[in-house]
Amino acid sequence: MTGRLRIASAFAQTLWTCRAGRPRAAFERWQAGILRSWLERDLPAVGFYRNAPPRLEALPVIDKATVMADFAAFNRGRISAEEGWRAFETTGRIGEVSIGASTGTSGNRALYAITGAEQERWLGTILAKAVPRFLVEPERVAVILPQNSALYDGANRSRLLRLAFFDLRQGFERWLPALEAFAPTTIVAPPRVLRHLAEQSERLQPRRLFAGAETLDAVDRTVIEARFGGKLGQIYMATEGLFAVSCAEGRLHLAEDANFFEFEPVADRLVAPLVTGLRRRFQIMARYRMNDLLRLSERPCACGSPLRAVDEVVGRMDDAFLFDRADGAQLLVTPDVMRNAVLDAAREITDFRILREERDRIVLVLKPELAEESARVALRALGQVFSQRGLSPEIVLRREAMAFEVHRKLRRVENRFQPEGGA
Ligand SMILES: [Zn+2]
Repeated sequence: MTGRLRIASAFAQTLWTCRAGRPRAAFERWQAGILRSWLERDLPAVGFYRNAPPRLEALPVIDKATVMADFAAFNRGRISAEEGWRAFETTGRIGEVSIGASTGTSGNRALYAITGAEQERWLGTILAKAVPRFLVEPERVAVILPQNSALYDGANRSRLLRLAFFDLRQGFERWLPALEAFAPTTIVAPPRVLRHLAEQSERLQPRRLFAGAETLDAVDRTVIEARFGGKLGQIYMATEGLFAVSCAEGRLHLAEDANFFEFEPVADRLVAPLVTGLRRRFQIMARYRMNDLLRLSERPCACGSPLRAVDEVVGRMDDAFLFDRADGAQLLVTPDVMRNAVLDAAREITDFRILREERDRIVLVLKPELAEESARVALRALGQVFSQRGLSPEIVLRREAMAFEVHRKLRRVENRFQPEGGA
């Protein structure tokens, strides 16, 4: 199959598989068939699963550390982590395979290996989910991310779809004029970037916007939607794959056509997903624990998609604060609860940080110009989040301008405390 045909085929297949009105039970039967053949055919092709039974529930749960500890055992090319990093830092390729890496602090980064055929399938899938009408309404899609990804290569193959990548790391001044001249109809960018564009650019008039790569907070959504009108969508993707995309109704649907999801309960309707990549054949990922917290939706979506809806990607699992209470209980305070307490305390709060700096020391950062009364109410509200759970960490208020940081992912709630001996 040629590349172009593969993109078109994945595009059509995704639209058909996830078509509105398809009963959930029929979708699940189709998915079970895909999963079965993937387990029988693709799973045992890599060393880690050579002798594994072709039953998902019999496989171990793995995570980034498992994969990076023996990268060669998870890909068909037996590419080791050293070879992978070397390729990533030079050509980004080993033969026909593209090598990429997640952003993040060194030591915490993960490699991925993907073939050209997988890239084309990925592209067809994301187009079907994000811009399904590009054949009738031609699109200029601007993707603004901290690093170019092998995934976007080969997208400029059609007159109906132009795709331009803007490197966030180069700073706005460098590419904002080019972005405005490109006049994108769709923009994909981290929420802090969309917010910055909303506040800084008067020329952009996109039809659709997708936030991705970071947690979307309500404070940013409000600013972005007020400036650009219409609904802000989300694309939930990571190094490990494409996991969810918003539908035309603005609700996030899991990409169950490309992944099989299991869910580990964390707290109060929040789950951590285990992902099995049904379309990945070169690098195998089965029951892979994502470092994300999702709130699953309990109501179906009006768009009629058979794919499960998610109310919110709440944040990162390792930004939840874990406490040992005096009575021996372990308590997890999740980012959404802290965030909502602060934002609900005063309407004029449009930015904040909540940092756990030590075991029992939490810092609430608010802008210097915020009224004293609002700051006090927010501090009290945050304190109640903990006192209601029988916890009494010291909570300190810090006044600080929160500058836009190009080189760092925005995490408004951040756990900087690592218990000794813990990971
Ligand atoms: Zn929907």
